[in-house]
Amino acid sequence: MKPKKVVIVGGVAGGASAAARLRRLDEEMEIILFERGEHISYANCGLPYYIGGVIKDKDDLLVQTPEGMIKRFNIDIRVNSEVLDIDVEKKQVEVKNRVTGESYFESYDKLILSPGAEPVKPPIPGIEGKNIFSLRNVRDTFDIEDYIVSNNCKNAVVVGGGFIGLEMAENLCHRGLKVTIVEMADQVMAPLDYEMAAIIHRYLKSKGIELVLKDGVKAFAHEGKKTHVELMSGTKLETDLVILAIGVRPEATLAKKAGLELGETGGIKVNKHLQTSNPHIYAVGDAVEIADFINGSPALIPLAGPANKQGRIAANHICGIEDTYKATQGTSIVKLFDITAAVTGNNEKTLKKFNIPYLCVHIHSPSHATYYPGATLMAIKVLFSPEDGQLLGAQIVGYKGVDKRIDVLATAIRGRMTVYDLQELELAYAPPYSSAKDPVNMAGYVASNTLMGHHPIIQWYDIQELDQENTLLLDTRTREEYSMGAIPGSINIPVDELRENLDKITGYKDKDVVVYCRSGQRSYIATRILMQNGFNKVRNLSGGYLTWSIANQ
Ligand code: FAD
Repeated sequence: MKPKKVVIVGGVAGGASAAARLRRLDEEMEIILFERGEHISYANCGLPYYIGGVIKDKDDLLVQTPEGMIKRFNIDIRVNSEVLDIDVEKKQVEVKNRVTGESYFESYDKLILSPGAEPVKPPIPGIEGKNIFSLRNVRDTFDIEDYIVSNNCKNAVVVGGGFIGLEMAENLCHRGLKVTIVEMADQVMAPLDYEMAAIIHRYLKSKGIELVLKDGVKAFAHEGKKTHVELMSGTKLETDLVILAIGVRPEATLAKKAGLELGETGGIKVNKHLQTSNPHIYAVGDAVEIADFINGSPALIPLAGPANKQGRIAANHICGIEDTYKATQGTSIVKLFDITAAVTGNNEKTLKKFNIPYLCVHIHSPSHATYYPGATLMAIKVLFSPEDGQLLGAQIVGYKGVDKRIDVLATAIRGRMTVYDLQELELAYAPPYSSAKDPVNMAGYVASNTLMGHHPIIQWYDIQELDQENTLLLDTRTREEYSMGAIPGSINIPVDELRENLDKITGYKDKDVVVYCRSGQRSYIATRILMQNGFNKVRNLSGGYLTWSIANQ
């Protein structure tokens, strides 16, 4: 039997999505949506762009207003209403009207929790300063905007180099502020592996953004409108504005208070129908612990797509549809000025953590046919199983066409495809858009060749471990390229001259030979020449000099 009354906590991604789906499925149901803030269904993901002036109109941040939602979906929307408590026995919630201060109870047949995640705010001395902000909602956005304008801010420190920190850095730059990013890890964008993030490091610096890596904030000291940010290393940065973007944690307090089970990550534990440990209460979005699609472990992956989909699934299940949420693979993308970085699935760090065997290849492919004007290079990294080639993850950094390639790879991962399948994908081609062999096909060819043993590879981080005395490090680029910079200890034989120079290196037939060129393509040809001429231990440097040099910059 369908429930008559559903109460929803949280009126943005998961909550609003659940409310709309419930109404589409049941015209009679009483649906009440409580939102603590003053807005519902706002564009969290668009907030940084309002600060940067890219989104100019405040109203554009509001995907839906309470009035609009009431009119279209006939939902009882109550903003400025915070749910303080859940009485699971009586099946009612206690709600505080944040305008009047009054509290009251509201009963439910089914309850959906979509309270999201709150920005992490560690107890650093001085963190309560007036010029220190986190960005979560529309109110925060306007507060940051107002502060910048009324205090004529000229510079900013962004603490944290994740997606939100980077987007804020870009947008503050657009406003003319001088930005420094402080990041505790040795790289920005944790979902990328180091050598892919290193492309972003170089790019950010080229845009005038200061990047302080491997350092954290020890204290904030305020002096008038200025703040001195003291770092663990002792470095001091003086700034007008601080944006804290060091991550989020699930808002699970309400669930915990109600005795609902939490998972090992601190997120609300849910089953495949998104029911909590109490079957009358569902939970969705950033607040829940989900399974990682690749490694199957419990994880927190706070993204808008999963939150919206989960809202719909919970609503379906409440209305008797046997819908399930399977897992999250963490497909995400960020634009920074002209560059785009995107990931899906697991990276090397995660695969290592879970002891999942993997191989990975890097390619540098033009975004479309190079004879058509405007092609730019994109770096693609694909991770896959050494046993059967099943895809485990992908990362792309580039200027054009990154979004469509990551989505193709994300779809392939979701379909449990292998690198052999990537070769076969028939993707749209005309010169302005791609090449007859799309970069995704190319990644499939390189990975398949590696898997079949035609193309043994070595990674950039293994180069420093080589026994230089007994290894031939062979640069197969042109002499001109070699003269402009090469891996120390390498010798240069351009690929087109390799066949006639084989006699010079015959002493290495049974020794390690590492071949490289700019991207790995010419050295792949060199690898094939050498392997078919009796060189037994040849490996091609994955991603070539481009990947090695950027990782060692
Ligand atoms: P939210 O959308 O955060 O909604 C939760 C709501 O619940 C909040 O409005 C909160 O006020 C309310 N609430 C909490 N507790 C209570 C209570 N007790 N009573 C009443 N109301 C309550 N994801 C992407 O995939 N791509 C992006 O580009 C992207 N960019 C982002 C940029 C920013 C600045 C931010 C902050 C997030 C971004 N995200 C992005 C993440 C994405 O917005 C979230 O994953 C998504 O909104 C989560 O949905 P949710 O419903 O779980 O929580």
